Amino acid sequence: MSKPKLITEDGIRTDGRRFDELRPIRMEVGVLDKSDGSAYVEFGKTRVFAAVFGPREVHPRHLSLPDRAILNCRYHMTSFSVEERKPLGMTRREVELSKVIREALETVVFLEEFPRTSIDIYIEVVQADGGTRTTGLTAASLALADAGIPMADLIAAVAVGKVDGQLVLDLNDVEDKYGEADMPIAMAPRFNSIVLLQLNGRISKDEFPKALALAKKGIMEIYRLQREALKRKYSATPEGGM
Ligand code: UDP
Repeated sequence: MSKPKLITEDGIRTDGRRFDELRPIRMEVGVLDKSDGSAYVEFGKTRVFAAVFGPREVHPRHLSLPDRAILNCRYHMTSFSVEERKPLGMTRREVELSKVIREALETVVFLEEFPRTSIDIYIEVVQADGGTRTTGLTAASLALADAGIPMADLIAAVAVGKVDGQLVLDLNDVEDKYGEADMPIAMAPRFNSIVLLQLNGRISKDEFPKALALAKKGIMEIYRLQREALKRKYSATPEGGM
């Protein structure tokens, strides 16, 4: 297929957004019963669940560490989340994303507080339309908070990129596929610290700081929505309460 037009002369993107706008976002905490913590996060048509178990005993036991918890992370796309036929097992891409998501989360979780245990994070993409790793990270940090795991901060994430020669915030699938660059970024906003930054494609030296500033603007809004979602669950009056 030839490259579709991604931005009109009036600066409107394929889904009606301007260059600096996020997709409609929905976040909910504590959506699953069986796990210790969970979250659902939606960025437009990208929909992701995250579930956390632990800290719990490590199996097999000899894999446990004497001085800290092990953080396990599995990022997975369900077979119905994409159009094409997706292999049932873990693809190389899913193994890589599980690793970069885990490394980003390890920067904020106080693992040394739970020696000889594991904290297991499962991320399930149920619908993919661009930005699944950033949505997954955003959901995973909410699920960790919901599980009561002590953390220095939440992680908020979004991709910025370049389409039709213009920098844009929060790429959707067509923008990701046909654009010139895609740069997912995750931050611990309290420390102004970047915990994940990847770049697929090319952007110039001059564009890089502008792209970073655009991502930060989006991340601050995502961070605000995360805290709101947590407050909604934890400051709600118990049923029948005062
Ligand atoms: N995608 C897909 N099939 C795949 C992998 C990705 O359809 O096996 C689509 C999906 O919409 C995804 C997008 O391509 O969100 C961009 O994928 P990328 O690898 O850049 O990761 P993401 O942006 O989701 O973090």
